[in-house]
Amino acid sequence: AGMSSEYLEVRDLRVSFDGFKAVDGVDLTLLQGDLRFLIGPNGAGKTTLVDAVTGLVPATGSVTKSGVELIGKKVHRIARLGVGRTFQTASVFEELTVLQNLDIAAGAGRSALTLLRRRRTVLPAIEEALDVTGLGKLRNTPAGILAHGQKQWLEIGMLLVQNCSVLLLDEPVAGMSHEERDETGNLLRRIGGERTVVVVEHDMDFMRAFATSVTVLHAGKVLSEGTVEQVQADPRVQEVYLGT
Ligand code: ADP
Repeated sequence: AGMSSEYLEVRDLRVSFDGFKAVDGVDLTLLQGDLRFLIGPNGAGKTTLVDAVTGLVPATGSVTKSGVELIGKKVHRIARLGVGRTFQTASVFEELTVLQNLDIAAGAGRSALTLLRRRRTVLPAIEEALDVTGLGKLRNTPAGILAHGQKQWLEIGMLLVQNCSVLLLDEPVAGMSHEERDETGNLLRRIGGERTVVVVEHDMDFMRAFATSVTVLHAGKVLSEGTVEQVQADPRVQEVYLGT
């Protein structure tokens, strides 16, 4: 694969539930290094879009990651291609330690990995994830007793050790303190760089502080797209947000 700067290309994506068009012809181009916020009123189709990209719901249209078509592939295949997501409620193994959670994530779908290769590739990746998420000192702590924010960071770490280069995060700062929220933004900046991060979010202060670009969904369609300033100045966006 070459140095394609278009990490994720979504074309005419559509998802229907019993004839109801939850995602209704969405086009999106995400570049390496994007920290793209996906906003819009409740029911706009944000979560369904993430579900479609990650293979959780059937969709039509096209989603390519560095040229490889994802539509029609199963969830684990899409994850193996480096497209991973988190859920609104952190899904970590509560009774296992931080390190064990990362270890399991790193091994997901890679049962044939030899011990030797595992030592060479997986262990450094786990150390890096501990380092970048700031969870190093908590490596032996059961995930169940982590603070809310730390659980979210662990989940992001689990995507990193799976080698995800496109991370889709569903309301990562919901329920976080201001401090945790800022730490999360800094974490996303640290992991951004050579990856692409999509954040579904309702927290507008968080968006203003950290988004490099914004897509506004409304009724399953892209209503507006651009920088934070451009989107905020868009009368269509103001109308949708004032009208709800
Ligand atoms: P958002 O994340 O922007 O709040 P969603 O993607 O959750 O919006 O939902 C978009 C629309 O699709 C909503 O009207 C919702 O009720 C509907 N929807 C989502 N999932 C399903 C489903 N599994 N079955 C039927 N309708 C659904």
